[in-house]
Amino acid sequence: MAGAKSITIVGGGLAGLTLGIGLCRRGVPVTIWEAGHYPRHRVCGEFISGRGQAALARLGLREELAAAGAVPAQTVAFYSATRATAPRSLPSPALCLSRFKLDVALAKIFRDLGGELFEGRRVSGDDLGEGQVRATGRRPEVEPGGARWFGLKLHARNVSLAADLEMHVSPRGYVGLCRLSDGEVNVCGLFRKGAGDDGGNLNSRDLLRGQPFSPLRERLAGAVFAAESFCAVAGLSLRPQQAAARAGLCLGDAITMIPPVTGNGMSMAFESAEVAVTPLAAWSRGEASWIEARWKISRDCDSAFARRLVWAKWLQRLILTPALQDPLVALAGRSDGFWRMAFARTR
Ligand SMILES: Cc1cc2nc3c(=O)[nH]c(=O)nc-3n(C[C@H](O)[C@H](O)[C@H](O)COP(=O)(O)OP(=O)(O)OC[C@H]3O[C@@H](n4cnc5c(N)ncnc54)[C@H](O)[C@@H]3O)c2cc1C
Repeated sequence: MAGAKSITIVGGGLAGLTLGIGLCRRGVPVTIWEAGHYPRHRVCGEFISGRGQAALARLGLREELAAAGAVPAQTVAFYSATRATAPRSLPSPALCLSRFKLDVALAKIFRDLGGELFEGRRVSGDDLGEGQVRATGRRPEVEPGGARWFGLKLHARNVSLAADLEMHVSPRGYVGLCRLSDGEVNVCGLFRKGAGDDGGNLNSRDLLRGQPFSPLRERLAGAVFAAESFCAVAGLSLRPQQAAARAGLCLGDAITMIPPVTGNGMSMAFESAEVAVTPLAAWSRGEASWIEARWKISRDCDSAFARRLVWAKWLQRLILTPALQDPLVALAGRSDGFWRMAFARTR
């Protein structure tokens, strides 16, 4: 598009690459600066559920992701140390794809569309101006005096799951097992490290394998882990934030992180990218000011995400209250209504 102003995106993760693809398809020149290199493993449950799937379809990306190995997930089962539910249908199917394959597939699509993508370039400073978008993912934060969250991820083979997705809760956190393509299973967990915890007993593999005699430990008894897929993140802040309160134009986790128990963070990255395409294309053509575009994007993201962030915060709190774990798993097994409601409200 002759005379179109260009957009610079800092961060080539899901939000940044999806926005880049959407803008390239509208004829907007886009440059992405990415600190890392593709392909790479990321700490993620690798379970895409909720409205982000429709956003991917509208952006014309569903078929490409299927070609990259995305497989549908139809069933889920819940476990605590002593209880288990029978597998049940997900209210709407999810999509499972390794981040090792997903991010590189999106990067290729972006480049094939003519987008400029620089790898290994970390942009410093918070101060992004006109024409610049922050899609740098989660902001490491430690909550003073509070629990500190960290995430771990490892791929495994030789694991036979009862459902496409298994959620195992324990007093220390939770682990999701997600069936990927080619016989792989993603083992991903979120754990808390208390303020007075010296960290002496924190062996990552033990945390991911679960407590002795737990259903998780049993499930992973014969697992063959892919050491190269191991990754970890720490200092996660799960306090909901508003896009309008952020400095500059932010998308995805750079706005706020939704508690991972929902499996909705990737969806929010795709949705926020889709929300941004039309206003940024209008700015690029000179039909809207930067302030107008930024205001519209922030307002639309906040109204799309506000309710689910509140529900997710409370759901996560309930699930991580040790005394409630057995009753919640029992309730999820008995009452279809309870967990369908929790599923719907958090996505
Ligand atoms: C334990 C755990 C489990 C999860 N499970 C799920 C799940 O099952 N389903 C789900 O939907 N979501 C899940 N999530 C959340 C999901 O991973 C994120 O919401 C999603 O990755 C956000 O995408 P993003 O594009 O905003 O950020 P990212 O994917 O993190 O991308 C940000 C990119 O910016 C780059 N970057 C950062 N700083 C700079 C800089 N200064 N300059 C240049 N580049 C920079 C990074 O290298 C990265 O590539 C989980 C998260 C955790 C922690």
